[in-house]
Amino acid sequence: MDGVLNPPLKLLDSYKKSHVTIDDHEISIYVCGITPYDATHLGHAATYLAFDLINRYLRASGRSVWFIENITDIDDPLLERAQRDNQDWKALAHSQIDLFTEDMSALRVRPPQRYKGVVESMEEIIEIVSEHIESGLTYNIDGDIYLDLKKVPRSLEKLPYPIDEALAIFRERGGDPDRTGKSHPLDPLLWRAHRDNEPSWSAPFGKGRPGWHVECVAIAMRNIDHKPSAQTSTITMQGGGSDLIFPHHYMTAVQAESLTHLPFAKAYIHAGMIGLDGEKMSKSRGNLVFVSKLLQQGVSPMVIRCALIMSHYQSDRMWNSELLNTAQTFIAKVEQCLARTEVAPTSDLIKQIAESLSDNLDTPKVFALLNKWCAQTEAGEVGGSAGELSRALDTYLGLAF
Ligand code: ZN
Repeated sequence: MDGVLNPPLKLLDSYKKSHVTIDDHEISIYVCGITPYDATHLGHAATYLAFDLINRYLRASGRSVWFIENITDIDDPLLERAQRDNQDWKALAHSQIDLFTEDMSALRVRPPQRYKGVVESMEEIIEIVSEHIESGLTYNIDGDIYLDLKKVPRSLEKLPYPIDEALAIFRERGGDPDRTGKSHPLDPLLWRAHRDNEPSWSAPFGKGRPGWHVECVAIAMRNIDHKPSAQTSTITMQGGGSDLIFPHHYMTAVQAESLTHLPFAKAYIHAGMIGLDGEKMSKSRGNLVFVSKLLQQGVSPMVIRCALIMSHYQSDRMWNSELLNTAQTFIAKVEQCLARTEVAPTSDLIKQIAESLSDNLDTPKVFALLNKWCAQTEAGEVGGSAGELSRALDTYLGLAF
C-alpha cells in the first residue's frame, strides 16, 4: 500500500463538466456542513462519506490535506424551527451539532481539521462584507446589502443553468429575485438588516446578520492553511451536496473571486441526492431517514456506511431496506473470507481498488472487485494476504473488519 504508487485522483467537476486532476501536494478542501436543525439524515451522511473517501484517498497517496467544514449555526430554517418548537436557537443548534458529530464518528468519517461555525466567524464575515462595500460592488435596500453582479465581470455569463431556470432555483433555495429595487434579480444578499425577533450583530454598515453565501466565503478565505501550489486558486476543492451547485457554491465563488481576482476553487465537486422508496427525501415530505434512528434500531454503522458508498457518489439514488440487506450480506461475506487462513491474491486487487477510486471514486467497481475476490477465495484460490487487504479496506474505504 505504498501511497506514492496511487494514481492521481480525478474527479468530475460540476461546472466544467469534465474531470479535474487533484495533483497538488498540499490540498485544501472546503465542504459545506450542516444547518443544525435536522441532523443527520442519509442525504447528509452520503455527502460526508463521499468527501471522506476523497480525504482518505488523498492521504493514502501521501498528500497533505487541510479539510475544513462549516456549520451554518445561524440560518432561516434553524430560526424557524426554533421558533416553531419554542426553543432557544442556540440550544437547538448545539444539540444538533452534538448529534451530527456522534453520527459522523459512528460512521467513521474522519473529522475535519476544523469545524467552523458562522456565529464564531462573525468578525471575519463582517470584514468580508466591508471589503465588498469598499470595492464599490454593493448597493443597499432599506439597510439590506446586496452584491451588484453587474459590477462583477463575467458573473452572469457562466451561470450553470439558463436564466429562467436559475431564477426559479434561486427563488426556491432562499433567494429573493422578486424584491423591488434589486439591480439584477440574482444579486445575492450579503447582509440582512436587523428585524424584530431575529438575532443580530453590530457592524460598521448597520446591525444585522449575514446572507448565506458570504458566510462560506469568509470561513473559507480566513481558515485555509493549505494553498494549492502556484496559488492558482484560493482553495483546491469546494464540495457539498448537488443541491448546493446553485446558487450557493456559484455565489460563493463569485463573491470570493470579486475580491481576490483568482478562481475560488480548482474543482467543484458535488455528491448526488438520496431518495426514499422512489420519492425525493425531504423535510417537507416528512420522509427523512436519520442515521441516529437506524443506529438506535440496531443497524451496524459499518452496514450503513457500506450501503451508502456502494453506489456512485454522484448518482442520485434511492434508499430502501433492500440496500441494507445487500450491505449486510456483503460485509458478512468479506468477514468470512478474511477469516480464512488462505485467501485469493490481494496485491493486484488492492492496486485495482486504488485505480478505481482514482477514477472519480468508482466505488461500484471496487465492490464488484471485492465480490469477485470473495468468489475466488471461496473457490479455494490462494496466494493473498487477508491482513494486507483488511488494512487497505480500512485505509481507502473506512471499512474496519
Ligand atoms: Zn457553504
